Amino acid sequence: MGEVHHLPRRRKPACPICGKPAVEKNRPFCSPRCHQVDLGRWLGDTYRIPTDDVPEEAELAAALTARDSDS
Ligand SMILES: [Zn+2]
Repeated sequence: MGEVHHLPRRRKPACPICGKPAVEKNRPFCSPRCHQVDLGRWLGDTYRIPTDDVPEEAELAAALTARDSDS
């Protein structure tokens, strides 16, 4: 019946490696393999922390600062 709306909202996390839907037991990855890939990236020092968030945060901070100084 319509009980779905009653459940807590739940995102479907995507595997950061391949973008497939993550599997519960392998979260946040879709498989042990992707987990290994991620580990390998870290250990191999080829993994770069995604910088996509940084500009966003900077923008947010700037926006907050602007709002603060505005009021
Ligand atoms: Zn994956």
